[in-house]
Amino acid sequence: MPRRHIHPAADSLPVLSLPSGALAHTDRTYDYDVDRDPPNVEPIEHKIRLDFMAGGPIRRDDLLGEYNPWKFDPEAPDADPWAAGIKPKPRGLEYAEATCRRTIDEEVQYFEHYEDDAVLATAPAFLANRLRLVREQPNPEQALEEERERRESWYRKLIPGMNLYQILKSSSYGSLIETTIGTSPDESALTQQDAFVGMVIVDEETDTDAYATAQRIAPEYVIREDRLSSGRDDVSPTLSDFGITRPAPLLVGEYATGGQYPFLPWGDALVCSCPYKHDKPWRVMCKHELLAAVVAGSTDSIFLPVTRGIEVPHRARRFVSPDIAATHTPRTDSHRRRS
Ligand SMILES: [Zn+2]
Repeated sequence: MPRRHIHPAADSLPVLSLPSGALAHTDRTYDYDVDRDPPNVEPIEHKIRLDFMAGGPIRRDDLLGEYNPWKFDPEAPDADPWAAGIKPKPRGLEYAEATCRRTIDEEVQYFEHYEDDAVLATAPAFLANRLRLVREQPNPEQALEEERERRESWYRKLIPGMNLYQILKSSSYGSLIETTIGTSPDESALTQQDAFVGMVIVDEETDTDAYATAQRIAPEYVIREDRLSSGRDDVSPTLSDFGITRPAPLLVGEYATGGQYPFLPWGDALVCSCPYKHDKPWRVMCKHELLAAVVAGSTDSIFLPVTRGIEVPHRARRFVSPDIAATHTPRTDSHRRRS
């Protein structure tokens, strides 16, 4: 399978070698297989990141305290825990919920033309695969309806209530901003407690000190994969699960909670390697990615900053697909009605 080799600016750093699934969809060598590869970064994930980037810093006071995401029912009158009006709903979340509602409408075309390969070629990878399977069912109309309900449940229930509301709890995102100054921490406050560190991740056989000396890198920025939090957790993916070869120059999130999770280049963006994100494939965001979105939004860039450490290649810092960033406009439904 073709790979992309990205040479860092500094000669002393190793090449970042990525599989074709990490490339942009528009790249000639892009290749993604639903059955073979880890879950893609779906278009909705890119859009939700842009929504939280546009939404600005999130106040600690506005996070949820007691909230049980597993009991979320979008039809229940008290489904929205912010609806009581005691706390204002974070702006980024308002955008994200509006994006989910709009995406249901935008995807109707795929269900209507599920037998048309030309239409499915433009659909998100996971959905396109499911709709191709629908055709093979003995009762495709019924299977199509089940698939439509499943997709709608993702946008109406799983993404907002069971995923985004959950990370917007004091015990989740709040744990990353607990010690920051002020109630509405911005990028500079956030990156004092949490850091995006440029590092070379090496395999278990490598002597990190010897490697650092040979490559003329400060030894604190060379780390064995099994020393990272992700390397000590069964649910977290490894670099090789995502086809990334070691040594790899990557951005590693170091958090106030003590966790150390690399961002893996994938699907024209980055994916956090923490267990929360990978435990349930329907989750579109973890608290670390939310923090990354707020930080990226503060600098108005789709690239995450390197707080300290080595200068990793741009591809290892690109948090959102440039193609989707160029076409997605974060907005609420009321804004849409006014415009
Ligand atoms: Zn994470």
